[in-house]
Amino acid sequence: MKNNIKKLLELQVLEEEISELEKDSGIKDVKNQIESLRQKYHRITEKMQEIFDQYKKTQSQFAKEKSALDHLQRQIKECEEHLYEGSVKKLKTLNSLQHDLESLKIKKEETENDLFHLQNQIKIDKLNLKSLKDKSVEIKKDIQNLKDELIIKSEMTKDELKNINQKIENVKKEVPSDVLNQYCFKKEKIHPVIVECHGGVCGGCNMQLSIIFSHAVSHGEESQGFVCENCGRIIYIQPDSVKSQL
Ligand SMILES: [Zn+2]
Repeated sequence: MKNNIKKLLELQVLEEEISELEKDSGIKDVKNQIESLRQKYHRITEKMQEIFDQYKKTQSQFAKEKSALDHLQRQIKECEEHLYEGSVKKLKTLNSLQHDLESLKIKKEETENDLFHLQNQIKIDKLNLKSLKDKSVEIKKDIQNLKDELIIKSEMTKDELKNINQKIENVKKEVPSDVLNQYCFKKEKIHPVIVECHGGVCGGCNMQLSIIFSHAVSHGEESQGFVCENCGRIIYIQPDSVKSQL
């Protein structure tokens, strides 16, 4: 690592230049807006899926209840026909039929009630789905507009970016791939990856690094790539800094 620290530092400075350029030209801002809208879009589609699954369940429950209601209505009709056609003479049988009819009517009312609630739920789910769908279309349109804006802004900084990217590519060629991978891996999690050490303190997390630092000082090495035990950053010790600490 230590022989590559200067190159990695160069790489970090160039990447910072790109970041600054993107910030100044408004590219970063547009990119952030796109990312935030994408996340919003994702949340909406997730919610839509959730409602849709619920909607499907409610619909199938509605169909079941509807068929139960049809069955009850047929049973009531049969029962009433039987009761009023006059063929049943026995009082006990008449009472029993009347009792059955009452029970069927209560069940019918309960089922109608359930159906009403299910129908209402279906209506609400439909409305929510429609509203979320509209919102998602709107967000998609906004993302597209921002993408167009990004193209225009990128066009304006194209040459400058190309220049820096070329320099980055050149630096990368001079760094072994395993070192570069290590740097890129760290870059995903911490920023900046390479920091200077001032007075034995990590420039990233401000923790004292006495042992590592004294090692560097005692060896009088000009530049080294130590990893901070606390934050995992690569610590860079300036030659002047080493001398002044001796
Ligand atoms: Zn640190």
